[in-house]
Amino acid sequence: IMQIFMPLNFFGFVYREMKGSMANIEKMFALLREQPKIVDQNNADELQVNQGSIQFNNVNFSYHTDRSILNNLNFSIAAGSKVAFVGSSGAGKSTLSKLLYRFYDPDSGEITIDGQDIKQVTQDSLRRAIGIVPQDTVLFNTTIGENIRYGAPNASDEDIDKAVENAYLSEFIRQLPDGLNTLVGERGLKLSGGEKQRVAIARTILKKSPILIFDEATSSLDSEAEQNIMRAIKQVAQNHTSIMIAHRLSTIVDADTIFVLHKGEIIEQGDHLSLLKADGHYAKLWNNQQQNSHE
Ligand code: ATP
Repeated sequence: IMQIFMPLNFFGFVYREMKGSMANIEKMFALLREQPKIVDQNNADELQVNQGSIQFNNVNFSYHTDRSILNNLNFSIAAGSKVAFVGSSGAGKSTLSKLLYRFYDPDSGEITIDGQDIKQVTQDSLRRAIGIVPQDTVLFNTTIGENIRYGAPNASDEDIDKAVENAYLSEFIRQLPDGLNTLVGERGLKLSGGEKQRVAIARTILKKSPILIFDEATSSLDSEAEQNIMRAIKQVAQNHTSIMIAHRLSTIVDADTIFVLHKGEIIEQGDHLSLLKADGHYAKLWNNQQQNSHE
């Protein structure tokens, strides 16, 4: 059940895990109606990440030929910067993170990291370079400690403690009956959405990837949970290139660049203040959300 359940929640990361452990992968893909099209090129190089700059050049993409999702997308993310993608539901925000993780290839155009076309590097090296905090974090029926260690089996206890601290999980874990050894799952501990996201942040800290993607959950957390997550993300994002896929604009006012995506195109970009001044699409979204939050 677990293996069928996972990929629905979390695309590439789990896909890679499964590839190693499952003989029956074709059946799985038939089930998911996904095509395992992505293969390494012969003699693919390892991705070398120095700074972590990202570029989308004339990227077009559709899941099905009759409906284009990303239209000639062009943008650059400077090394070490914090950017955010916003836009209405269905605009293509998650899709572009799936392309960056190479869960799909663009129909045309290219995506580069530090100047290297991601199609020409091994998937393994690409996926090591990118840490994702997904909307829905999958937890396993084991201890909370093992759940945090997932993805970095060689992490030391000190590494784990540090990740727990930086993900603002220390207090939560201190309250558990067996601390890090407390069992999670059906018969054990149930975590809230915010706690699960912080587990994902701790995992990402342990993975030590130079590029980070945070896919903000659509369901709203209470403001304390949200603040804890934002503090954790800020902590993790230091010295990394980070991409935030945001639904609540209040979480991304600090971003260096905000890209406004609409029907698969970038219609505005800039920082929060300049976008407000421009009084366009972003300003409209912002005003709507401000009004709703005061109702
Ligand atoms: P949201 O804010 O609701 O998360 P989004 O901007 O992240 O939306 P995407 O998830 O990128 O939007 O989806 C863009 C479009 O692509 C949507 O119309 C969606 O229905 C479609 N889509 C997404 N995934 C698939 C898929 N696996 N197969 C076919 N169509 C898909």
